[in-house]
Amino acid sequence: MNLQRKRYLPPGLKLDILPQIPDNFWGAVFKSLYESWGDPYWWPGEDSWEVAVGAILTQNTAWTNVEKALENLTTNEIITADDIIKTDSVHLGQIIRSSGYYNSKAKKLKELAGWWNLFVTTGKIIDFSDDKLRSELLNIWGVGKETADSIACYAFGRPVFVVDAYTKRILVRLQGLDSNPAYDEIQKGVYDSLPRDSMLYNHLHGLLVILGKEHCKARITECLTCPLVATCTSGIMKQTDNKKTRRNENPGSTN
Ligand code: SF4
Repeated sequence: MNLQRKRYLPPGLKLDILPQIPDNFWGAVFKSLYESWGDPYWWPGEDSWEVAVGAILTQNTAWTNVEKALENLTTNEIITADDIIKTDSVHLGQIIRSSGYYNSKAKKLKELAGWWNLFVTTGKIIDFSDDKLRSELLNIWGVGKETADSIACYAFGRPVFVVDAYTKRILVRLQGLDSNPAYDEIQKGVYDSLPRDSMLYNHLHGLLVILGKEHCKARITECLTCPLVATCTSGIMKQTDNKKTRRNENPGSTN
């Protein structure tokens, strides 16, 4: 593992289907964000193993806490799946303490490391279909849909779209929904709308993470500078409210 984390990109991935992206809802979201910000440079990691470790550590915590835990693993020379297996569970928990739920995450890392040595180190994973890989990942204790899909997409370059809390929040506001749609419903919506392409999903999730952090935050929304404001139900309402407020404050204004 490297303290200066760069983006890890599985071999052979490139974004070459831009011309094929349709003008539907998800196509328009992707194009607006990509035209504004380009490559989101996501996911941070030195190699596929570090991406998978990061996917476990980031459960229910901010990435800054994950960074500290990854740095601690490096400092303690716990680099590979074998190193995780050999490290005492309590000691491992202390090393990754900054990521929260550290005893549980230590156990999850050990489960992941055992799986890794069975299927990744041996090369068996190459023969797994995307569906088989997902079901194998979901069989690992402590790995849910978001974690499994993050590993499939960002560690192994499979065409799998990751849904997270940012995605749900953004979608609710874009479409003016009353409640959060289900994980599978959002994922199916993306699969039905966009070509099944690893790099496209890699970029789309990364761009939504940036949007959720920079503009579509939990409590405050920076709609006026958001690339999606022209087509966002919530953003359009906010713009209208702003205009009304300005008119009330400046009755003579025509704006
Ligand atoms: S316009 Fe506002 S509410 Fe809509 S996606 Fe952008 S930040 Fe979120």
